[in-house]
Amino acid sequence: MKGKVFIVGAGPGRKDLLTIRALNVIREADVILYDDLIGEVVEVLKETKAKLVSVGKRKGRHKFEQEEINRMLADFAKEGKIVVRLKGGDPFVFGRGGEEMEFLAREGIDFEYVPGVTSAIAVPGAAGIPITHRNCDPAVVIITGHETKERLNWSALAKLNATIVVLMGLSNIEKICANLIEHGKDPETPVAVIEKGFSNEQRVVDGTLKEIAEKVRRMNVSPPAVIVIGKVVEIMRNVAKLREGLV
Ligand code: SAH
Repeated sequence: MKGKVFIVGAGPGRKDLLTIRALNVIREADVILYDDLIGEVVEVLKETKAKLVSVGKRKGRHKFEQEEINRMLADFAKEGKIVVRLKGGDPFVFGRGGEEMEFLAREGIDFEYVPGVTSAIAVPGAAGIPITHRNCDPAVVIITGHETKERLNWSALAKLNATIVVLMGLSNIEKICANLIEHGKDPETPVAVIEKGFSNEQRVVDGTLKEIAEKVRRMNVSPPAVIVIGKVVEIMRNVAKLREGLV
């Protein structure tokens, strides 16, 4: 019997934000290779019969190289196993799910994509920031904070009327904000940083492009965190005031 690999999104870390499809394939799996950023979903894994392999990557310390992960996925599937490759959020949003899909296709292995709720949209939402709003920018750009220079056109980005969502941006937040200001973005643009979204430790740092980096350092914000840059941050402020009965 031929195996199959499910490339599955775990959502932003809460068990009840898994999709039903994700839960179903997790329960059927023989082997689950999972990342760090899956939060309490790890408890769901422990209730299954599957062999669990933690392949989490942390900055500067790779438990497994991507090639080894690809190889493991292929080998388990060739043994006829149902393999779940579980990643935080959605597997195709800065999650290397695309690379794994290409590899599996090359190896002739059957696979299926199971989407997850991406932190890029849900974590701002958890803080009360709607990722779009009719009174705000008409576009959203999701960027990785690891591309501070080379491949991103900062000048175009700074000029675009778009909400900017930065994943993996905390360690480069100074550079990201400086780049945007340097290329013409208003230093007073509202910015929010949401730390550990959907957990009991969720914190929100609210500020402007010119001061947020310093605030984030002062408050010792640590990963994972999503940075949201744009007028939509004001919606969070307004709603908070309305809720407190201040307006
Ligand atoms: N595929 C994932 C993103 C992987 S990149 C997704 O779709 O959500 C990892 C980055 O996601 C982190 O550096 C952080 O920016 C963000 N992230 C993931 N989970 C988060 C959470 N619970 N709270 C805040 N940020 C989170």
